[in-house]
Amino acid sequence: MIFLYYRDTWIEVDIDAIHQNLDYIQSQTDKKCIAVLKANAYGHGDYAIAKAVLMHGIEMVAVAYLDEAISLRLQGYDKEILVLGYVRASDLNLVRENNITLTVPSLLWLENTINETSVENIRFHIKVDTGMNRLGVKNSEDCIKVLNLLKENHAIADGIYTHFACADELDNEMTSSQYELFKNIVNNCNYPFPWIHCDNSSATLTCKHSIANAVRIGLILYGSSPLEEKKAHFTPAFSLYSSITNIKFVKKGEKIGYNATYTMKEDGYIATLPIGYADGFIRRNQGRFLYIEDTPCEIVGRVCMDQCMILCDKFYPLETKVEIIGKHINIYQMAEELNTIPYEVLCVFSDRIPRVIKEKNEVKQIINHRLFYK
Ligand SMILES: *Cc1c(COP(=O)(O)O)cnc(C)c1O
Repeated sequence: MIFLYYRDTWIEVDIDAIHQNLDYIQSQTDKKCIAVLKANAYGHGDYAIAKAVLMHGIEMVAVAYLDEAISLRLQGYDKEILVLGYVRASDLNLVRENNITLTVPSLLWLENTINETSVENIRFHIKVDTGMNRLGVKNSEDCIKVLNLLKENHAIADGIYTHFACADELDNEMTSSQYELFKNIVNNCNYPFPWIHCDNSSATLTCKHSIANAVRIGLILYGSSPLEEKKAHFTPAFSLYSSITNIKFVKKGEKIGYNATYTMKEDGYIATLPIGYADGFIRRNQGRFLYIEDTPCEIVGRVCMDQCMILCDKFYPLETKVEIIGKHINIYQMAEELNTIPYEVLCVFSDRIPRVIKEKNEVKQIINHRLFYK
């Protein structure tokens, strides 16, 4: 992996925080954990997180797409990987070569796939749709058909799972009705699935779903809680910084940036930062505040593709560090200010921003996707 980057905008990933979060999660559940590493581990760097969770005895990770699973294999991850999303029948050879576990997303998919190719020796988890209406088989009859087809075709029925639509709403009855349906379908299958799982982060913290023997943890692993009352138990692993690449004195009345949307109300200093909407720092950030040490600085003018400008209280030297997410601005606050959820805040930053992986205050690795091929 490349240990370099040449632009001072970077994401810091604190592996110690991941360990603390896992300590807490494992104190709250007896079930096996499946670490959800989709979307580059919610922006944190999938392989770095895979290695960290392995130290807690977690030997199963989940991703959304086959590409993400293969990427983990190429980086050297050799434990089990479950793909939660749809995979083409024509890619099953690749699945076998890379020893990947697949989801059966529907009876239709399995029938088509068996017509086209062999599923022999491939491990599958059957997805049950208990109300989301996204992926999964919807009733016991279809589930048993899937199970029988897997057996007849010498595939391995290694697991069964469902996903809750409203687990982050504490007293929503939909979760219990989804669970009852899941339990019924699992019981009707009358098959000793090695893996039975239904809980995401929220449900892991609030429910005791006894038919399951595993939970799928995403957001809480990274230190954000989908539930207000559980926030204090988690430590965010993600922070984002940039630095000043230009600073100048600007007179009252002068305009800033594209379309001249901001007019200086008085004389002051404007600093330029090397981060823009192509990095996932979306244009809606205009008007929010970033921090230079303890001083808030407003983002003024349009956010450009690669840069943005902030209004400073005084002159600062070039390469002064600017906090975008960190001690002063947390992920919840940013989510609220952008009218979205912590999940989206974490996932939105593009791989143009290098990830600096830190453990015990030391840099362990720098992931810079632009220089991957160097
Ligand atoms: C993303 C995802 C998860 C993880 O959800 P969190 O709320 O982040 O814990 C679990 N299961 C499925 C099917 C998912 O797609």
